[in-house]
Amino acid sequence: MEYQVCNNCVMDSSDTNLSFDESGVCMRCREYEQRIEREWNYGKGHEDELKKILADVRRSGRGKEYDCILGLSGGLDSCYMLHMAVKEWGLRPFVFHVDAGWNLPVAVDNIHKICNKLGIELHIETMDWEDMRQMQLAFFKTGHAGLDAPQDHAFVAQVDKFAAKLGVKYILNGYNIATEIVANPESWNKGAGPSADRTYIKDVLRKHGGYKTRNYTYTTGFRHKFWLPYVKGVKTLNLLNYVPITRQSMIDTLASEYGYEMYKQKHFEDLLTKFIEGWWLPTRFGYDIRKAQLSSLVVTGQMKREEALTILSQPPLTEEESKELFVQVANKLQISEEELMHYHNMPIVYRKYRNNSWAFKMGIWLYTMLGLDKRIRK
Ligand SMILES: [Zn+2]
Repeated sequence: MEYQVCNNCVMDSSDTNLSFDESGVCMRCREYEQRIEREWNYGKGHEDELKKILADVRRSGRGKEYDCILGLSGGLDSCYMLHMAVKEWGLRPFVFHVDAGWNLPVAVDNIHKICNKLGIELHIETMDWEDMRQMQLAFFKTGHAGLDAPQDHAFVAQVDKFAAKLGVKYILNGYNIATEIVANPESWNKGAGPSADRTYIKDVLRKHGGYKTRNYTYTTGFRHKFWLPYVKGVKTLNLLNYVPITRQSMIDTLASEYGYEMYKQKHFEDLLTKFIEGWWLPTRFGYDIRKAQLSSLVVTGQMKREEALTILSQPPLTEEESKELFVQVANKLQISEEELMHYHNMPIVYRKYRNNSWAFKMGIWLYTMLGLDKRIRK
């Protein structure tokens, strides 16, 4: 297939599902123009809607210690979400952080700076390192690109756990159109199951070494996508889409209010993710995650396309940085550098793993058929 890059953003044919129209503009850009830009309007004009949502959140928390839940990664979006929730809106979130063993100091510093200044109690969930290490090794052995599943699942499972345990009806999520509207292509996740699905995670463990986790908390697609939202009525809110923000305005506010320190690239607050996105995916698969990140900034008018192309002309990490990370990751996983390089250079095959996506599809079907929508989503 001939290489093609969008004339408007910087997404290209490394996403094998991406189509382009006759003027060379990709379908992501067209979707943004036709549907999203109008509705979102750069976060402007949503004041009334936001006011109503915030009133609902506050009301739901009356007589309780918390009115919502917020998981903090240390990254820009969740930190800014916390700032808005507490400082601007006076919400009372239960704030937690999952320490899966790969935190870089910049993430930990940022989290503490913000929580301290806001007077928020931070709940840290420290994962069992042997569980995380063994799970990570099993995922390297799949040969797939979806290597963050053990960390992603750990985070989602904690959200679900706390939502159920605390009886809180709202989950705050830092997802936002301004920096994330162009998502990572699904074609880059080929072969991987849904990371919020215990069946998938367990089948990977079973097929690659048979490790049995000791203290890892799981969730299921059914619990996450059906039971909590539709039966328990727990809603996830992406409130950053209701206010005007840009990546730079978020950085500036957090830096001046809390001394927040920005890192070089999105997700580079985590050693493993930095390694995977900065080196593993580009060199093993030809996937450069920055294309989606920069395209989000380009289509929302925060960056010129030329500037994005200039950034992309250089690799995400220098050769020295990559080498250093490689050694650090091998050491942390307690394997030799040869073994890690072996996983990197394995032939790319897409083996099938069991997953439970049927359960949550059936859940959605059931609730539509039974007309539960109004009753349980009020
Ligand atoms: Zn495009």
